[in-house]
Amino acid sequence: MDKPRVAFFDFASCEGDQLQIVNLEEDLLKVVGAVDVVSFREAMKGHSDNYDIAFVEGSITRRSDEPRLLEIRKNAKILVAIGACATIGGVNLLKNFQDLESVRKFVYGDKFFQYETYPARPIKAVVPVDLEIHQCPINRDEFVMAFKALLMGKKPEFPNYPVCEDCKKAENICVFEMGMTCMGPVTRAGCGACCVVEGSVCWGCRGFIDHPNADSEREVLAKYGLSVGDILKKFRLYTGFSEVSK
Ligand code: SF4
Ligand code: SF4
Ligand code: SF4
Repeated sequence: MDKPRVAFFDFASCEGDQLQIVNLEEDLLKVVGAVDVVSFREAMKGHSDNYDIAFVEGSITRRSDEPRLLEIRKNAKILVAIGACATIGGVNLLKNFQDLESVRKFVYGDKFFQYETYPARPIKAVVPVDLEIHQCPINRDEFVMAFKALLMGKKPEFPNYPVCEDCKKAENICVFEMGMTCMGPVTRAGCGACCVVEGSVCWGCRGFIDHPNADSEREVLAKYGLSVGDILKKFRLYTGFSEVSK
């Protein structure tokens, strides 16, 4: 039986998710042994348009990205968005809240007119996506779990409860008690609340859980003198698409 053919693609990204995959080392070899990798710019030369599973990193930031993505969608039986830029727009969405011409001038100086741009968006805003692997960057173990499930024809299961649950298990003091704010109550768990464990707050890079308890979140925010609008604005780094797509 032919092995499934797999390809990796990137749009506007830092390639950190593909790097996570390359860094899998032994685990990568085990997974790669079960498939034919036909395109992976970060790890090999050569390319084929004949693939079954496409992993796509990065967000769509130019109209000219769209035909390429539509072609990938047409070729792939399964399209998987990997990393926050691909799943929720990620850091690229920050420019959507600025004047785009000023952004182009800031980045490209007097050559700005040679570089097109448009409001950044996640992959699912342009083509249907079969699966999303969250986080910035993706978690290697979660990637391997999801990849293996796909190869077995199963849908991978991801946590669908808030980061706060992991955070409480890790016995952190809630940052709200220390006068800070946090996206943990509405963000998909699975990272072990690592940012809070390391002394920061949850910025929401794993995206919203499917059914966030909005009333409870409003109550918590009100207790600390905040509104939903305040917190979404503060955490635009990862929540920007939820604002523009309302
Ligand atoms: S999600 Fe994070 S690691 Fe992945 S491309 Fe975006 S910024 Fe880089
Ligand atoms: S610090 Fe953040 S993730 Fe942890 S319990 Fe508080 S709100 Fe939830
Ligand atoms: S704690 Fe929040 S920001 Fe940090 S990795 Fe987890 S989901 Fe992302």
